[in-house]
Amino acid sequence: MGQTKEDVLREASEKGVKFIRLQFTDIFGVLKNVAITIEQLEKALDGELMFDGSSIEGFARIEESDMYLYPDPNTFLVFPWRSTDGGVARLICDVYNSDGTPFEGCPRCTLKRVIAEAQEMGYVWNVGPELEFFLFQTDAEGRPTTITQDKAGYFDMAPIDRGEEARRDMVLALEYMGFEIEASHHEVAPGQHEIDFKYSNALDIADKIATFRLVVRTIAQRHGLHATFMPKPILGIAGSGMHTNQSLFKDGRNAFYAQEGNMQLSEEAFHYIAGLLKHARSFAAITNPTINSYKRLVPGYEAPCYIAWSGRNRSPLIRIPGKRGSSTRIELRSPDPSCNPYLALAVQLKAGLDGIKNRMNPPASVDLNIYELNAEQRSAHGIESLPESLLEALQELSKDSVIQAALGPHIYSRFIEAKKKEWDRYNVTVHSWEIEEYLQMY
Ligand code: GLN
Ligand code: MG
Ligand code: MG
Ligand code: MG
Repeated sequence: MGQTKEDVLREASEKGVKFIRLQFTDIFGVLKNVAITIEQLEKALDGELMFDGSSIEGFARIEESDMYLYPDPNTFLVFPWRSTDGGVARLICDVYNSDGTPFEGCPRCTLKRVIAEAQEMGYVWNVGPELEFFLFQTDAEGRPTTITQDKAGYFDMAPIDRGEEARRDMVLALEYMGFEIEASHHEVAPGQHEIDFKYSNALDIADKIATFRLVVRTIAQRHGLHATFMPKPILGIAGSGMHTNQSLFKDGRNAFYAQEGNMQLSEEAFHYIAGLLKHARSFAAITNPTINSYKRLVPGYEAPCYIAWSGRNRSPLIRIPGKRGSSTRIELRSPDPSCNPYLALAVQLKAGLDGIKNRMNPPASVDLNIYELNAEQRSAHGIESLPESLLEALQELSKDSVIQAALGPHIYSRFIEAKKKEWDRYNVTVHSWEIEEYLQMY
């Protein structure tokens, strides 16, 4: 942290870097980049590099398409893989307008804005995500399939298969790139893996999630495999989540911890939980932004579908892991790894802060298996459901001004517009399920 332009220029020349990728994400979290050579690096670091934003989906209209990339020197990183002509590095950028103001369509600037809100309240927000993904075989033409050769399960010591080898290389590449890997293991489903890295401040983590997905896909490819962060690639087995562990720190101390408090949690922790629960239905469109996301949020696969919290049970939306003291945290289990990490973190923080600002209190914790309750019993406990489809999630988002404010009007309107179109395309498609179900019956 705290790298300067000079540090970057020195490191780039010392490490023989020839190409630099200037990275940013569009509002859907897709990583974009403009490649420059070392000769352009100084100019780029001075924020003088212009690009045409009109070609990026969800960005600007044609008439206001001149945008500038402002690289963050702290994000300078040399990739472990090289091109034949020299080293390749990257810098993550904020997107600015030509008048020098942050572009409202820039997800990274959006997250920074909500982080600043937390800072004004005296908080630093720390986040630790758990990303799950599948490794699939590719066919003779190199196209991804949904076939996995491995038969291992949760935490299994599988005989070394290609998936295990690939995961080991992913860990090595990530470590080379400055990730502190805390755990990596096989997940419940065949071909499914998880790699966990150490928590950090939210901006660093959002950058790391974007980088993580790139590294995992790249290394998988080198092993002839396809890595996917699609939330539910296969019916009938577990999907992939991105559980998000989160805590607020104030004056260097964990503000969720209170030795004397109920469950050793502070008032702020309870307000924060209440805020997450209150907005969970409306921020789902951002934390679970695909049609496929809602096929993960169904009973039976350790993914949440009801809005509740618990100190013990793993089935609810929010779980409080056992650690206390400086490790006290809240685990939100709904997000999935297809999200835009900048926006997904921005809306979660906004929801939690709203709970604190308005001193909200959560309903009683639910320490039984919600999946064993029927609809009547759930409603007796006051337990609501997460949206069951992207359409429902979009409708919820359109009713929640707090979450809309976190996104800002530009991103909110572009996001809704694009996602409604996505829904419409899906809705008119005749799916293979319908053919199987109806073709012979009618
Ligand atoms: N795969 C599960 C999910 O979709 C989580 C499984 C786990 O980490 N215990 O959230
Ligand atoms: Mg985990
Ligand atoms: Mg897991
Ligand atoms: Mg977890």
